[in-house]
Amino acid sequence: LTVLGIESSCDDTSAAVVRWRKETGGEILSNVVSGQTELHAAFGGVVPEIAARAHAEKLDLMVEAALRDARVTLKELDAIAVTAGPGLIGGVLSGVMCAKGLAAGAGLPLVGVNHLAGHALTPRLTDGLGFPYLMLLVSGGHCQFLIVESPDRFHRLGGTIDDAPGEAFDKTARLLGLEQPGGPEVEQAAVAGNSKRFPFPRPLLDRPGCDMSFSGLKTALLRARDACIKREQGLREQDRADLCASFQAAVADVLAEKSRRALAAYLALNPPVPMMAVAGGVAANNLIRARLEAVCTEQGTGFVAPPLALCTDNAGMIAWAGIERFRRGETDDLTLSARPRWPLDTRQAAMLGSGK
Ligand code: ATP
Ligand code: FE
Repeated sequence: LTVLGIESSCDDTSAAVVRWRKETGGEILSNVVSGQTELHAAFGGVVPEIAARAHAEKLDLMVEAALRDARVTLKELDAIAVTAGPGLIGGVLSGVMCAKGLAAGAGLPLVGVNHLAGHALTPRLTDGLGFPYLMLLVSGGHCQFLIVESPDRFHRLGGTIDDAPGEAFDKTARLLGLEQPGGPEVEQAAVAGNSKRFPFPRPLLDRPGCDMSFSGLKTALLRARDACIKREQGLREQDRADLCASFQAAVADVLAEKSRRALAAYLALNPPVPMMAVAGGVAANNLIRARLEAVCTEQGTGFVAPPLALCTDNAGMIAWAGIERFRRGETDDLTLSARPRWPLDTRQAAMLGSGK
């Protein structure tokens, strides 16, 4: 079973070919990703119109490159999988139109994929995880705990009620004059810092449940930065390092404690092989990774973090999620529509009136 995947929901244009065999499982034959960081740099964030146009311009080239790298022709494919949401509507539409054109032209089945399902199912491709497992999806736009029960059943235990941690890392970098994306820069600067110097808040830790909040952290950081600047008439290197380290420690504390609670809810289901996995760009952070792994070890649960290139946005995960749907006999036709909002949790989706 060989599937082409297409991803264009945010600021990465990507195409990939993934093959599944019963004996060996999933194998990524190609996975090409083209980012747009430079296009949006001057605007301090992703501009939806610019993103959509760039996707439309690049998609054909990316598909060609993915097929070439995989040494596969369109005729040898079994299906075409595409991100149908959630995301920036212009970008999602570009991908869906491209996929429909290819599917109609080559007479192939089309499989619409939820971008978040792509992230959440990645550990099955990389590590062959069985259901159910606990997933922490922590990226630039999302932060949630999910119990992954099947390719289309996700039970949301909680998540951020405001900003995503990646967004907070990016804002912190901006406030401290560091480059974008901010995560790696803040992590780097934190190495030389004292994480105990600034007692930043750990929001919602005093409340039960798995919900989190990261927007207050940003305000606290801004105040602490301004106090430093006022005192020293500028931001000293050591202040910057201490601010980064203290900020990172606060995020890690919140994610670790809430993971402990999510894990308790998950373990109550008595899973045959207890496993927790992470996905999303923030999973690249070494401190956060180590803290989550420690929580899992303490609870006797396995911990899986897919390689970074498969944690961030890529079409390999979309092709894989497409394979999972296709193997269950689920496909879409050319009426497949793009959905800017599309929660994974089935009950939440029903509340939005978007059952299908
Ligand atoms: P989404 O997938 O939710 O639509 P996105 O595409 O912006 O959002 P990703 O590509 O998964 O998210 O991740 C990018 C985010 O990860 C950025 O906010 C970036 O700062 C953050 N990030 C990357 N590396 C690190 C790191 N080492 N530490 C912390 N954050 C990091
Ligand atoms: Fe993503």
